[in-house]
Amino acid sequence: MELLKAVEATIDFGGVRAVNGVNLVVEQKQILGIIGPNGSGKTTFFNILTGIYTPTSGKIYLENTDITGWQSHRIVQMGIARTFQNIRLFGNMSVLENVLVGEHTNLKSSLAGAIFRTKGQKQDELRAYRRAEELLEFVGLVDRGNEYAANLAYGEQRRLELARALATEPKLLLLDEPTAGMNPSEAEQVMDLIHSIRSNLAITIVLIEHNMQVMMGTADWIVALEAGAKIAEGIPKDIQYNKKVIEAYLGEEEE
Ligand code: ADP
Ligand code: MG
Repeated sequence: MELLKAVEATIDFGGVRAVNGVNLVVEQKQILGIIGPNGSGKTTFFNILTGIYTPTSGKIYLENTDITGWQSHRIVQMGIARTFQNIRLFGNMSVLENVLVGEHTNLKSSLAGAIFRTKGQKQDELRAYRRAEELLEFVGLVDRGNEYAANLAYGEQRRLELARALATEPKLLLLDEPTAGMNPSEAEQVMDLIHSIRSNLAITIVLIEHNMQVMMGTADWIVALEAGAKIAEGIPKDIQYNKKVIEAYLGEEEE
């Protein structure tokens, strides 16, 4: 079943067409990889999917609902969560609080509730707290809950970002270069975690990865971008030997 569909997604920044007529379908429970050289529009495509930018033309559908141009918080509520290429955490908040911030988008609290703290609301808070602990357990950070997020090692911060994104209870998780800057063993840990998110939490994943090798062992289906346009898609072992893809990456090394 189709979870997400982009139809001719296009965005211009002044004279630059950063994403150019991209058609893409994400199937339920897929791990779909997006590859492409630097500047090929991968992050911008995520920014369109998550409402940071409205496409110049084209449409985005989540489970057949047209979400094109919706505000980011509504898209989160619809079930799309993401992490960023450059880590964005609240460094001066605790690890646990960072996860609670993610959950907050799903807490149904009214203003009166916030003032009088009804019984129902206290129960909500307790549930949120327990859920946050479970998520920290899931990403291997349960012992670090009271630490300032800024004090975590780089790889741990990446995993905290994942926990925070999961806290919004997404159907679809968008990961922008989750292993960037990691050593091979840290990267492997994250890849295991991604598989576990799919198999244990039944969440569909779209993953941007600049490193083609990393992608080969992770994705079920790969879409390759160059200069904002889709140049190829298919199963990893076909994409690996795709002539256009190889040329796109060779071009990058010559820069
Ligand atoms: P990738 O993630 O594949 O490395 P990006 O999506 O970050 O590539 O960038 C694609 C192109 O879009 C680049 O040429 C970049 O400079 C341009 N771009 C992205 N965001 C903006 C913006 N807000 N204003 C102008 N140009 C942008
Ligand atoms: Mg990018």
